Amino acid sequence: MIKIKPTIQHTVVCPYCGIDAVSNRVLWQGIHVTVVATCPVCNIETVADLPVGQALFTPYQVNVAANEVFGDKAARDWFGVPLLESLRNPDSHCQVAMQVEKRRKVSNAIILNCLDYLYGHSLLKLLNADSYSGIDQQTGLVVMVPACLRWLVPKYVAEVWVVNIPLSSSRSYFPSLHAAMEKELIRFDEVHLSLAHSHPCGFNITNFSGQSPCKLNDPSVQVTFVWREDRIWSGRYSAKLLGWFGLDLYWQNMKVSFLFKRLKNEIPDVRCVVAGLGKSTRFPEWIQDARVALFNEDNEKTTCRIYSESKLVIGVHGSNMLLPSAHAWATIDLMPDDRWPNLAQDILYQGENDDVRMVSWRYHFIPLKTSLSQIALLARTTLLCAKEALMQFEQGSRST
Ligand SMILES: [Zn+2]
Repeated sequence: MIKIKPTIQHTVVCPYCGIDAVSNRVLWQGIHVTVVATCPVCNIETVADLPVGQALFTPYQVNVAANEVFGDKAARDWFGVPLLESLRNPDSHCQVAMQVEKRRKVSNAIILNCLDYLYGHSLLKLLNADSYSGIDQQTGLVVMVPACLRWLVPKYVAEVWVVNIPLSSSRSYFPSLHAAMEKELIRFDEVHLSLAHSHPCGFNITNFSGQSPCKLNDPSVQVTFVWREDRIWSGRYSAKLLGWFGLDLYWQNMKVSFLFKRLKNEIPDVRCVVAGLGKSTRFPEWIQDARVALFNEDNEKTTCRIYSESKLVIGVHGSNMLLPSAHAWATIDLMPDDRWPNLAQDILYQGENDDVRMVSWRYHFIPLKTSLSQIALLARTTLLCAKEALMQFEQGSRST
């Protein structure tokens, strides 16, 4: 954690002369939490990232007046330059509404900033909350979340600050949001900033969704395909660009139906479900269609329950696989060619107390172009493995 009140415990170095700058104040940009600092030698003011979230790895520092960015090349285009651009072009017209929900009165606060322009990144930041579930009574966790994540905020959180801006606008700088943050922080004696790790571990997903993940010894023989319409199980990743988008949705539907049919032939009691975002095309009645046109709090909860009833979930790589993998016993992640560098970023691993060898059975990453018959074989084997293990478990229970 980084203390930011009553003093800012972070040193900003002047990018021009290398001398420690004087930290003047915290600036709440949005995704970035920054420090405005002045070099005592150059007398130049810069704005520097506090090392939280992505800035733990690629912090940036900008000179707004000189239009300069300092920092690593790796994330410069999507993280560093947008910081500079946002500060050069603040959105002063939009009055951001921050809804403050106070659940417990505390004198000290830990701020977990979950704002991000990508849904998956926001969700992953929120999972850091579990690190603070046992903090002392005087200190409370305060989470800043976009409205779409409000329903996932754990009960033990002291305050929830819901920021009503679209995810896509989270890289912008809204002076009204900064002002709202400063106004709320007056109430606290001490304020720390959570490091908001980009892919935390050690969390309990039940604290967030309210659903317990499917266990090996749960009787479920359910397989759920996670449907999305902007990244399709078609082998043609850029179908939308090629103008085959509508056709590919029907093709995806056919592949899901064929996959389920093959599983049904070999495991007659398997329950087949399709869930996720988008309701294009229709499925035969023997496939439970739990897809939604638009997510809201109610159907998000229902969908998570479906995932938690699934022995296996299958879907195309992306943030759509985070909650499914967190709740199902096993996952098959279909990887487009250009997503391999992002391997496992969309998986919320479960079963920390399991034998580590079980990971081989629970999490599969295979090319999107893998044939349907190979995927069916892998799915069948995973389900039967679980079923056999369950039988052994039950026999073991009876013999003891
Ligand atoms: Zn300097």
